[in-house]
Amino acid sequence: MINVHTAKLQQLDAAHYMHPFTDFKALAAQGSRIITNASGVYVTDSEGHQILDAMSGLWCVNMGYGQQALVDAATKQMTVLPFYNSFFNTAVAPAIELAALLADVTPPQFNHVFYSSSGSESNDTILRMVRRYWDILGQKQRKTIISRHNAYHGSTVAGASLGGMIGMHEHGDLPIPGIVHIGQPYYRENGLPLGVTEAEFGVIAASWLEDKILELGADKVAAFIGEPVQGAGGVIIPPATYWPEIQRICDKYGILLISDEVICGFGRLGTWFGCETMGTTPDFMTFAKGVTSGYIPLGGAMVSDRVAKVLFEGGDFNHGYTYSGHPVACAVAIANIKLMQELDIVNTVKNSTAPYLKQAFEALNDHPLVVDAQTLGMVGGLVLIKNKATGELFDDSVGVGMICRGHCFGNGLIMRAVGNRMIIAPPLTISHAEIDELVRLARLALDATYADLQTAGVI
Ligand SMILES: *Cc1c(COP(=O)(O)O)cnc(C)c1O
Repeated sequence: MINVHTAKLQQLDAAHYMHPFTDFKALAAQGSRIITNASGVYVTDSEGHQILDAMSGLWCVNMGYGQQALVDAATKQMTVLPFYNSFFNTAVAPAIELAALLADVTPPQFNHVFYSSSGSESNDTILRMVRRYWDILGQKQRKTIISRHNAYHGSTVAGASLGGMIGMHEHGDLPIPGIVHIGQPYYRENGLPLGVTEAEFGVIAASWLEDKILELGADKVAAFIGEPVQGAGGVIIPPATYWPEIQRICDKYGILLISDEVICGFGRLGTWFGCETMGTTPDFMTFAKGVTSGYIPLGGAMVSDRVAKVLFEGGDFNHGYTYSGHPVACAVAIANIKLMQELDIVNTVKNSTAPYLKQAFEALNDHPLVVDAQTLGMVGGLVLIKNKATGELFDDSVGVGMICRGHCFGNGLIMRAVGNRMIIAPPLTISHAEIDELVRLARLALDATYADLQTAGVI
């Protein structure tokens, strides 16, 4: 039995609240789980269940819940100056100080930032900046941006167009013109040809970019965008050979490289930014989520010196948001980054937490339902498989991921399901003991899923 308070909230929720990425009718019938408070790596729902949040909220609560320094920064800034804009030759101190701090923690080619309030908006900004850049250089025909199937770059019109999610494209007649997609570096989708190693596959997947550039004509291509590790697509970790090859191809044809760091930025892969793990030197980085550990919305685009130099010579750039450089959001970001520095969290992830997570999570490969359990830094994923010996996958109609996700929740663990993949992105602050607990709960959920499938006669 759920308590009266929960029932009342669920009723109002069903009556008035349209949730993101949700079947409204189905949720109204089922009732949502209401999360009421959180501490460290645990969230608590309105029924008093404690749940280990192995997804950091939505890939964002990198420093964990309950960090008082972030709360204090917001409170102080709200008291002193809750808002002022940066439109008409004005500015606010936190936006300026954060810009300098970002220049400090990002790779050396980045010394300029344009603020927004989300990852989606930041990619909208970048799309316009990329085209503006080529316009100023007198190459107006360079409009096309190449992305990848199963990429996620946000949910605005430009964000969803840059993304490669078919289900999203179907809603709203997307993508908009001038955005095309190539295959993703995921061998299970693309069918690793017999005898091809993973390293060779990385080079093959990157070559699809060159094929597309030659098909379109290099002088028509403005930029390539990609997430260092695809997040929402199911934590697709590319072969180590992939990104250096992408960089080489972009350089060869003079094409701008956009690294969407909304998930991989701010320590997620054990480096400050994902491009540092992958060995690329992008012209743009999209950031959001982890910049404030999700405590308040903030996003932005880091702009490389060579692009900024051109934009500075181009006169007005007619673009911006009311909340570009919002003082409270920027103050929280400063506190978050300083906390990361004080705790030396990036090195701790790299040298201790990520290696520990790797051995613990990848041990799940011994489970009869699991293959490809793999982590990189503090993201991980595994494939739920029907037959380990033959490699036969479950039919989509089984909904194996959703069954497993249900058992995770039931056992006090939040893991996300993407098709037949189960994925994690825990807070960077998670302890070794909490990682052990995460994997123990995951195993319970896998066992329960296995039992369900046996009962249903699916395996
Ligand atoms: C979440 C995400 C976005 C979109 O960010 P929002 O803040 O939801 O608009 C863009 N790119 C990547 C890689 C993301 O994971």
